Amino acid sequence: MDANGIIHRADADDRPRPRSMTTDDTVPDPLEEQLPAVRTALAEASRLLACLDFDGTLAPIVDEPDAAAPTPANEAAVETLADEPAVTTAVISGRALADVRERVDGPSIYAGNHGLELERRGSVAVHPVARKRATRIERACEALETVLEPIPNARIEDKRLTATVHVRSVPPAAEPVVERRTREIVDRFGGDELEISGGKQILEIEPSIPWGKGNALELIDAELPDDTVALYIGDDTTDESAFRAVEPDGFGVLVGDDEPSAASARVASPAEVASFLEWLGETGVELLAE
Ligand SMILES: [Mg+2]
Repeated sequence: MDANGIIHRADADDRPRPRSMTTDDTVPDPLEEQLPAVRTALAEASRLLACLDFDGTLAPIVDEPDAAAPTPANEAAVETLADEPAVTTAVISGRALADVRERVDGPSIYAGNHGLELERRGSVAVHPVARKRATRIERACEALETVLEPIPNARIEDKRLTATVHVRSVPPAAEPVVERRTREIVDRFGGDELEISGGKQILEIEPSIPWGKGNALELIDAELPDDTVALYIGDDTTDESAFRAVEPDGFGVLVGDDEPSAASARVASPAEVASFLEWLGETGVELLAE
């Protein structure tokens, strides 16, 4: 874990994986420098696919994950975009599907558990391997409740297909203990079938399958016209696969500071996300080719 409290993947599962698992990532440009390219891409497309992460993107990160809510500006901007006939709007979150869809209105598509569950046209598709491993997740969560019980403010969230151990409010001295005990439990109940990845002050327990937000985004995009321009905005390691899914023809927008990423543009905060979404809803949609 670094000075900002971010548990990096390399720390989380002792394999030396950098933030985005590729070495050619560069620091994204500030969004305003990429806006001319965004305008050109919109002018050449007939449709916009706008995919949005939730925590840290639409909603500021808060100490109590259950209290997270989109900023009012993001809430309004998402509804406006979702109402645009030429825009398909999706929220792709690490939260459970049922959780995230309660927190933001408007989109026609929601993906939960980092893309392992996808709701479109009123029906939910679940990754079949993840579904099979849900029992292991449940057992690991039960065991974690016991072994992490003595740790102040350690919180386990069972999201059925994945689980999150929240360490944001854990005393810093106890964080290595949380990580060690979590790893032991996941090894015991998961074997080769579960793995741990890191996020912002979380340990994410998930099935060890090569499926992420980028795969869900590709499923959504595959149903849209070929001349759709895709956009993804997100703030964390799990968003990198989605950035790679939209780049280089579309745009990945990292919410954060100047760290290397597969995204080509960056904004600083959920407030700047709202400004961009408002611009897309007012000006961006007008640029789309007829
Ligand atoms: Mg996020």
